[in-house]
Amino acid sequence: NVKQNGSDDFEVYDSAMNDQTIERINMENDLRYALENDLLEIYYQPKYNSFTNELIGSEALLRWNHSNYGFISPDTFIKLAEETGIIIHLEEWVLRKVCRQIKEWKLASCYRGRVSINISHIHFYQGDIVSAITSTLMEFDIEPTCLEIEITETTMMNNEFETNKTLQKLRSLGIEVSMDDFGTGYSSLGYLHKLSIDRLKIDKSFIHEMQKNEAIVATIISMANTLNLKVIAEGVETNDQIQVLNKLGCHEIQGYYYSKPIQPEIYKQNFLLALAQ
Ligand code: C2E
Ligand code: MG
Ligand code: MG
Ligand code: MG
Repeated sequence: NVKQNGSDDFEVYDSAMNDQTIERINMENDLRYALENDLLEIYYQPKYNSFTNELIGSEALLRWNHSNYGFISPDTFIKLAEETGIIIHLEEWVLRKVCRQIKEWKLASCYRGRVSINISHIHFYQGDIVSAITSTLMEFDIEPTCLEIEITETTMMNNEFETNKTLQKLRSLGIEVSMDDFGTGYSSLGYLHKLSIDRLKIDKSFIHEMQKNEAIVATIISMANTLNLKVIAEGVETNDQIQVLNKLGCHEIQGYYYSKPIQPEIYKQNFLLALAQ
């Protein structure tokens, strides 16, 4: 019902903006509420060495099952959390939840590998992740070798000196550092070799169109070898993709081929206990 009149047009536009703002504020409040009331969950997705068929560990991924809207994609609510500053709180919650979970699996004598957690650029540069991680590890009495952190390529391209200082502290504790979504951020070989990291994580967009991207994936893998870095492929869904990756020398695999991200009880049952027997 847009009228010819210009000022009415403006009003229509303006109220649409208000609706969006209101929806945002509601979502922000809902997210805070969910965080404070322990309504968020963490799912775990296994990572495998496809060559030795060994479980390497898993990635911890946040899940928010909203009471009205159902599951909301982390890409959406992480962005909201970053824009509103909730992210540091949120990821400290993830860290504690993951460490508590690792402890529980250890007590059940079925713990294997490392769990990786994703760290946002806001948390990485504005929080104090080294002390948050150190104190949480101590609180739950678990070794740093149980943990890995994933930081996106784009995040790491920020400030070489500051980035390395933090990365070196984490790595000297025994925590591994992986560069997430590698290939989407345009960092150069020259820059990469200066960074203190353990692993490149090939972005799933390259894996999904493996045929088209085989040369790029091959380049990433040989670059990783040159720099003495480990390499993992994410988003692997088919056996064909695994065959190509193995041929190119990439043995660490994460993706629906092995499993979607799943609840901790199912991960324990299907992956940890299956191995412990
Ligand atoms: P990411 O860190 O790159 O995580 C991998 C994403 O790929 C996950 O999406 C996972 O479910 C999906 N995936 C894994 N294997 C496959 C596959 O074979 N096929 C397809 N199509 N997808 C696959 P998810 O769980 O929706 O998470 C999206 C993003 O949200 C994550 O991307 C990460 O950037 C972010 N995220 C999740 N939890 C956290 C967190 O605690 N902190 C931060 N900063 N970001 C988080
Ligand atoms: Mg990740
Ligand atoms: Mg990724
Ligand atoms: Mg991603």
